[in-house]
Amino acid sequence: MKFKNSSLFTSRLSKLDHRINKACLQNKRERSSVKILAVTKKKSVDDIRLAISHGLKNFGENYLNEAIEKKSMLEAESNKNFIEWHYIGSIQKNKTKKIAENFNWIHSVDRFEVAQRLSDQRPLNMEPLKIFLQINIDEETTKSGVMPQKAKELAILIAKLPNLNLHGLMAIPTASGLLEDQKRSFLKLRELKNKINKLNEIKTKLKSLSMGMSSDLEAAIDACDSNTETWLRIGTALFGKRN
Ligand SMILES: *Cc1c(COP(=O)(O)O)cnc(C)c1O
Repeated sequence: MKFKNSSLFTSRLSKLDHRINKACLQNKRERSSVKILAVTKKKSVDDIRLAISHGLKNFGENYLNEAIEKKSMLEAESNKNFIEWHYIGSIQKNKTKKIAENFNWIHSVDRFEVAQRLSDQRPLNMEPLKIFLQINIDEETTKSGVMPQKAKELAILIAKLPNLNLHGLMAIPTASGLLEDQKRSFLKLRELKNKINKLNEIKTKLKSLSMGMSSDLEAAIDACDSNTETWLRIGTALFGKRN
């Protein structure tokens, strides 16, 4: 298949790889512990096809209807079933059924009621839904996510749900252009994960952190170690600015 923007995408992806490799070298991280989630909200199905042709297979979407439309178009094509779909948008209660039926991963769970519905509504012929708890790591009144003080309690409840698999924590820190500020927020998330993993009630330890976007991925790689997977959620650096 021919793509209009193929060479542009190739060069963006190689720049991104270069940034990731450099940060891994500087911080003694194994490259395999850093994952790329390609964030395609407001981007076309062709953009996704282009990314697939470059070897990417994890895609993140924020808007349910848009996501389902793109997903069904891709599923109609052959050999697209290896795609892992990640839901990273805010979750309204009445949307949980469709989310549970259509995604492999959810990064934005921040209350028990939603988690319970997702577990109840997950089709039994599908593997457990992989979940990140979204943490309001900088305690901002305008942001979603559970407050850090409430996270342990919520993690314990969610870990008991049968059709969910609690994988890790996710955060969107206060935007800052300074590496030190970015890193401080990510370190708080890492600490919180370690605290949760010490709880007796958490039998399956959290393995992953969903943190780092186009403008702060170096800080995310820096703030974590190779024993924990870091999921970078990358939109702009791969697909350009969104409208
Ligand atoms: C849009 C979005 C991203 C991607 O952000 P970029 O700065 O474009 O890389 C990552 N995470 C979430 C939750 C988003 O909504």
